[in-house]
Amino acid sequence: MEFHLEDISPDEKAELSRNVFMTTLEQMKGWSRSNSLWPLTFGLACCAIEMMGVGSSYYDSDRFGSFFRPSPRQSDVMIVSGTVTKKMAPVLRRLYDQMPEPKWVIAMGSCATAGGPYVKSYCVVKGVDQIVPVDVYIPGCPPNPAALIYGINKLQEKIRYEAKTGRRVTTTHDG
Ligand code: SF4
Repeated sequence: MEFHLEDISPDEKAELSRNVFMTTLEQMKGWSRSNSLWPLTFGLACCAIEMMGVGSSYYDSDRFGSFFRPSPRQSDVMIVSGTVTKKMAPVLRRLYDQMPEPKWVIAMGSCATAGGPYVKSYCVVKGVDQIVPVDVYIPGCPPNPAALIYGINKLQEKIRYEAKTGRRVTTTHDG
């Protein structure tokens, strides 16, 4: 017997609308990825202490599907928290290159964003976006764990938006 949508009763239609979802495979992948983030910790200075706080029972970043990994090969988000020195820059880039695609970067704190209090220092990179593309910037010196969780939530929104539109927006030093 052939099934026609117009043959079903209003009650059945209401039941269907509550239980059946239509989406694309790309959006489904985006939704899954956004709720299963694997951050590579890149603690470089004082901001790292606040970053560690998000894994504590009080802030509990696990509830957003975000689990810290010790290896770039198991990670898809790099959280740069702290002062990026020129000596550390090539190491950061190498670890970024070792992360599989798709991957994202969060610049946590004013040092990672733009050099922070050390902006005039000869040995400090004036923003990690000079080395890797950045998706989310979190201002503050230091931002507290709640601010980092907000940044993670913004990245989740961004990943879902990318999956929906196919458009990726990152910031680099050149653009
Ligand atoms: S932004 Fe402030 S708290 Fe964070 S690493 Fe720089 S100096 Fe330290």
